[in-house]
Amino acid sequence: MIIFKTAGELRTWRRDAAEKGLQTGFVPTMGALHDGHLSLLKAASAGNALTLVSIFVNPTQFNDPADYAKYPNTLDRDIDLLEKAGCTALFLPSVEEMYPEGLPPSAPHYELGFLETVLDGAYRPGHFQGVCMVVHRLLKMAEPDNLYMGQKDYQQCMVIDRLLELTGMNGHISLHICPTQRESDGLAMSSRNLRLSPEERHQATAIYRELKAIREQLHRGDLISLKQKAASNLEAQGFRPDYIEIADARTLQPVGEWDGKRPLVALAAAFLGEVRLIDNMIM
Ligand code: AMP
Repeated sequence: MIIFKTAGELRTWRRDAAEKGLQTGFVPTMGALHDGHLSLLKAASAGNALTLVSIFVNPTQFNDPADYAKYPNTLDRDIDLLEKAGCTALFLPSVEEMYPEGLPPSAPHYELGFLETVLDGAYRPGHFQGVCMVVHRLLKMAEPDNLYMGQKDYQQCMVIDRLLELTGMNGHISLHICPTQRESDGLAMSSRNLRLSPEERHQATAIYRELKAIREQLHRGDLISLKQKAASNLEAQGFRPDYIEIADARTLQPVGEWDGKRPLVALAAAFLGEVRLIDNMIM
């Protein structure tokens, strides 16, 4: 596996690959890799001659400085996992490389519309602007043919889809959304799970159970009490929920009254101690 630390090295590698007609699949990450990340790499390997993973903990997408400071870092292990999984190249930029103009960076405002006003858009102000900023820069440097992201971050996938459209990059980059990988007890894999105490790790699976309960009890008509019950169950199990919502799977518009036809997704975000966990399930 080749490791690049600068955009210049990455661009040269990409140009060589493009001249040889080799397609590249790109998986952007923030490191502390787990099987969820590796499933994206596997999908990228299956569909491309070359695979590129980036590891960059992006300061501009953290609305909470303590969350940024405590983000897990397991770089040596990550490099080892990527080598073993057959990754072609790893991009490991510094903050200065990604934001040469300094922080806060001068970046365009991305018109995300409604998407930025609901769920994580509402609860994490500025988060999706930071995500767009870094992904836009990474895509300009990496110029991949295919981009792989996880359904675990459902709203983020919609935001990136919109970013590709806004920047016209959808003409040459295809977005592939891969299923959420879970631990054996159902907990969605996440780098932040490393920050849970053994007791919290045990409790954490309640998010998955509540999403599953919503799916099992879903019915036409009023959905408000279903959402409320899930939120109060989470509270009873030690969580501080930001939201537990049932929304239109295509638009993320909250659905209060269901006609039995609209495709739905249930999404949850909740704190367990200091750690904020998110998950979702297509209904
Ligand atoms: P992160 O390192 O958390 O920024 O995630 C990098 C990419 O991995 C994003 O596209 C995530 O949606 C994806 N990802 C994170 N956790 C999982 C998971 N449990 N299953 C599948 N993809 C995931």
